[in-house]
Amino acid sequence: MLTISETRRRYAAGETTPTALLESLHQEIIARDPAIGAYLSHDLDSALAEARACDLSLPLGGVPIGIKDNIAVYHQPATCGSRYLEHFVAPYDATVIRKLRAAGAIPFGRLNQDEFAMGSSTENSALGKTCNPHDPTRIPGGSSGGSAAAVAAKLAIATLGSDTGGSIRQPASHCGVVGLKPSYGRVSRYGLVAFASSLDQIGPITHCVDDAALLLQAMAGHDPADSTSLNAPVPNFLTEINAGVRGKKLGIPKEYFGEGIDPEVRSLVEKAIAALAAQGAEIVDISLPHTSYAVATYYVIATAEASSNLSRFDGVRYGKRASQVADVLDLYQKSREQGFGAEVKRRIILGTYVLSSGYYDAYYSRAQKVRALIRQDFQNAFSQVDAILSPVSPAPARKIGAAVTDPLLDYLSDIYTIAANLAGICAISVPCGNVTSEEHTQLPVGLQILGPPLAEASLLQIAKAAESATLA
Ligand code: GLN
Repeated sequence: MLTISETRRRYAAGETTPTALLESLHQEIIARDPAIGAYLSHDLDSALAEARACDLSLPLGGVPIGIKDNIAVYHQPATCGSRYLEHFVAPYDATVIRKLRAAGAIPFGRLNQDEFAMGSSTENSALGKTCNPHDPTRIPGGSSGGSAAAVAAKLAIATLGSDTGGSIRQPASHCGVVGLKPSYGRVSRYGLVAFASSLDQIGPITHCVDDAALLLQAMAGHDPADSTSLNAPVPNFLTEINAGVRGKKLGIPKEYFGEGIDPEVRSLVEKAIAALAAQGAEIVDISLPHTSYAVATYYVIATAEASSNLSRFDGVRYGKRASQVADVLDLYQKSREQGFGAEVKRRIILGTYVLSSGYYDAYYSRAQKVRALIRQDFQNAFSQVDAILSPVSPAPARKIGAAVTDPLLDYLSDIYTIAANLAGICAISVPCGNVTSEEHTQLPVGLQILGPPLAEASLLQIAKAAESATLA
């Protein structure tokens, strides 16, 4: 498996070079990606130029990293999967990109996503379809579907995604790879096209837990350019990663194992829990009593913030500009009408409604109060346990097209992931086995591990133990 450490070993042993590796990755993308659709674009020449100049002694020296198409990389497209930004080219590097480059990495390739990261299947991309590499008739998950599919198909060593309500963890779960959502404020959002600013975080999607730690190490830390970035010390995420789970208290929330979960998913997650117990973890039953309000709360807050964030797309400054307009109002209306897809419009309308005078108190303010209760649930739980274990998604990857007529079905599938964003805590998805589909394909299932704010070092340690248990 071409992990980050394996790539670095091959460079050090002289078995390959960054330019040779990029050339072969490029060939693989040309040959195999048309059947998967993970990439929206990739620019070999600029990556080769960087590879020739890279410093192999740095922690990510010469390692190409695929980037979700809502994270700005200087002089590369950043379409956000939208017609609106189809021809937009980023004028600067996001802070995460600047930091990855400083660690020696080479951003290579732009990955497909749901439009403006709104969705759970990548079917809301206006610019292409992405399939699950384990079964091309199924979704890769979303919204970072391209980022997860590229890693799963071995068309990327590692990638970046963004997670507002599960968009790193859920596609990682559906594609059988590792996906980490850092605590809110751990990683700078500067240069990430905003969806819901109080929920968005950038994080890694990788083959293994060690690689997730390596990427987080390079990206984490305070950034004055993001006012919500935390000025907290960044520990070394790798020193304790192999320390195991002996003595760790792991909470099992009863609300995450009730109605609606696929029995096979449940049994794989329970097996992973038993394996961690066998390694010496103490399993504790807990309750997160406000769980059933999370989906409704999220869809009020996220759409409210999206309606405000997306008001910058006015046809004037960047992106789509409608022609043949009567006046400035007509320019706004036609540019937005032509540039945005159905799901983005639905969210803007919903968000504008919940913020409008007369409804603000009934919806938006009330959702903020419920958000505080959800956060309190986690604070209470983390006074008893080191981390919480749950499924990532109630079911394995569904068929492409199965929910497009009913957006509510997709909203409900976020039930286990969105509370982490509302509470600002960290969470990771680690593969824990496969379900066999009716067509005899193997559909991966993820175990979710949730940790307190800024507890990524402990989260990664538990994740590493879970990974070795399921690989054993
Ligand atoms: N599926 C959720 C949504 O559609 C989460 C998306 C995300 O995390 N970006 O809003």
